[in-house]
Amino acid sequence: MLVDSHCHLDRLDLSRFGNGLAGVLDAALGNGVTRLLSVATDLESWPALARMTEPYPQIALSVGVHPSEDGGRAPTVKELVALGRDRRVVAIGETGLDYYYGCDSAIRQQDWFRIHVAAARELGKPLIVHTRDARADTLRILEEEGAAEIGGVLHCFTEDWAMAERALELGFYISFSGIVTFKNAGQIQGVAQRMPAARLLVETDSPYLAPTPHRGKPNHPAWVRHVAEFVARLRGESLEQLAAKTTANYGRLFGIEVGVT
Ligand SMILES: [Zn+2]
Repeated sequence: MLVDSHCHLDRLDLSRFGNGLAGVLDAALGNGVTRLLSVATDLESWPALARMTEPYPQIALSVGVHPSEDGGRAPTVKELVALGRDRRVVAIGETGLDYYYGCDSAIRQQDWFRIHVAAARELGKPLIVHTRDARADTLRILEEEGAAEIGGVLHCFTEDWAMAERALELGFYISFSGIVTFKNAGQIQGVAQRMPAARLLVETDSPYLAPTPHRGKPNHPAWVRHVAEFVARLRGESLEQLAAKTTANYGRLFGIEVGVT
């Protein structure tokens, strides 16, 4: 039993699957993936995401605005809290900081990040944090805004052990995507090896970042299995052991009944 702790079901090209979203979920189940968290990236597409996933109790949702989504409506604490009260919303995000393309929007990104942390604290729900080339500011804002009170996950982790350690101290979980399977990902693989089992998650971030052996293709939740197999091998564990731990972690972090302890 595996969980895809971070995917974007509303960004998938459903025409590739026989039966639309049901086909995506069938393929996932065929690989042992029984639960998914579909993560929001803006407010405009949230109602459609909520609607398309409504029939499927195995899909949990988050609400938030990705730091790079500057074309749409800016988030407010009030709106995030209002949407976040939906019982299917288990987290706030994805939020965070991405300076990969430069720091021009750094102040705007930091404002939005603080707004998400405030909303998460008000709701008592964890954060889904995206961070790229912004280690110091990400950690500083999480500390300044009291994010340790609610915790969360650093998703699609691409940083070093020092950053992982600081995040663990703040009570955060760390999630690995298909990037960990790439040949040049030695540093990330080292972090996955050292991670305490109780804070480890796996994800696809689909439709992006397909893992080896599907690198470059449109990704989908079934392929979290390749990420899990790879991380299990790195850690000298069986797939079953890693699946049980990451599923239990998912349940604990997001308050979802998963039947594994
Ligand atoms: Zn994402």
